[in-house]
Amino acid sequence: MPETFRNDDFLRVLKALEAWEGASRERSTPVLRQPPMADLARELDLEALLASGGLAERLEDFLETYLGACHRIQHPASMGHQVSCPEPAAVAAAFVDAFTNNPMAIYEMGPAAATVEFAVVNWMLGKAGWRPQPWPGQGDSRLEHGAGVLTHGGSLAQLTALAAARARACPQAWEEGVDPSLVVVAAADAHYSVGRACGILGLGRRRLLEPPVDAFGRIDPQGLDAMLARLRRSGRRVMAVVANAGCTAAGLYDDLRAIGEVCQSHGVWLHVDGAHGGAALVSPRLRHLLDGVELARSLIWDAHKMMRAPGLCAAVLLRDHEDLDQAFRQQASYLFHDKEQPGFDAISRTVECTKAGLGLKVFFALAAGGEQAMAAYVEGRWALAAEAARAIAESDDMELAVMPQANIVCFRPEGMEDDAVLALRNGLVASGAVYITTTAFAGRRWLRLTFMNPQTIMADVERMLDLVRDAAKNI
Ligand SMILES: *Cc1c(COP(=O)(O)O)cnc(C)c1O
Repeated sequence: MPETFRNDDFLRVLKALEAWEGASRERSTPVLRQPPMADLARELDLEALLASGGLAERLEDFLETYLGACHRIQHPASMGHQVSCPEPAAVAAAFVDAFTNNPMAIYEMGPAAATVEFAVVNWMLGKAGWRPQPWPGQGDSRLEHGAGVLTHGGSLAQLTALAAARARACPQAWEEGVDPSLVVVAAADAHYSVGRACGILGLGRRRLLEPPVDAFGRIDPQGLDAMLARLRRSGRRVMAVVANAGCTAAGLYDDLRAIGEVCQSHGVWLHVDGAHGGAALVSPRLRHLLDGVELARSLIWDAHKMMRAPGLCAAVLLRDHEDLDQAFRQQASYLFHDKEQPGFDAISRTVECTKAGLGLKVFFALAAGGEQAMAAYVEGRWALAAEAARAIAESDDMELAVMPQANIVCFRPEGMEDDAVLALRNGLVASGAVYITTTAFAGRRWLRLTFMNPQTIMADVERMLDLVRDAAKNI
């Protein structure tokens, strides 16, 4: 078979990416161009390339068109979604992983990748205040310790954590199906993947119950206490309480210590969704936001959000390793069998069968500058959000939804109706000058900023606010 791609073709790709990244950092470049899909397919000449090949000869042209229609996450005015602006070292890790392609959920299919993931998970367990997993063959693996696995995204991590909670609350569920008395308690502001997991796990959306919350959607611990008592009296069994460590809409943190103590007193599993805000665990200055997380039984934490790993890479972490071992109780004789081996097979702990070496991406992101550099990055983005929020709160034509606790800011032009906020956002995004999102929060619709990009500075925020003001005049 002829080689389709040579080393210098890789270099051609790298060169195109370098030029693209350089342009993406220029503030005069549009963040985003959205051509009609059919036009783009034609410009890329997809059908001809699919049928006849020959990509290498047309690489530069193809990449120019392709990259020209990419969302430029690296652009300082990309302040929309919670997607990492990848650390260059982590991008190199993704390349190494793609090149070696080791499905490391079985040790013998990727000893290096499995070892790196094990170490990364242990590092994360330590940040949560939980005991790390002993290296296979060293120490007593039966002693209480945590466990975790990296998965393809927070949604899958959520499902995995809740599957573990289900196995504890209802061990027969795997064979017999779910007991009808089982419920999950999660606030309306919980990420939609919680409801999805409940559907997938056979509880059904209607058994997802909302706890009392404050005006900003944060769980009221006393109200939760009363609710759990009520549920017990009525014969319901609570599989898990889900708390937010950075809710999706506004990045607010639930009071994990108070909620954890309530859950503990009722013997209920606390699951913490730290997909976005878990990153505060890296910073000694911000860790207080997750104070009490150690009382939880499970935590999810995306590395492809605030840990600068490219997608996908999320951690599901459990305080007690047995919980993760019970989450999936299936047997596949060609994969799961007793063997003498120097490593560990993560496969019994994951939804995935073939699983990429995700740990290398987080590891490179961290090892490039060490934990302190990561902490400085997270602190910097949190600080920019606080500064932006102050500027908005002090202006006389903008309204701030709530003082941010993370790097997410919700605001709108003073008094603007919900429909107008949506229209304004759509117009701004279509212009390509800036990328922001919108969310419902505390009963209203808001414009929403998420500061992920280390290049974004306050001047970019000011420019964005001026664009919002201009757009507001024409709504
Ligand atoms: C992003 C997010 C998720 C889902 O994670 P994915 O990696 O996008 O699947 C879950 N919860 C919260 C709070 C999030 O911000």
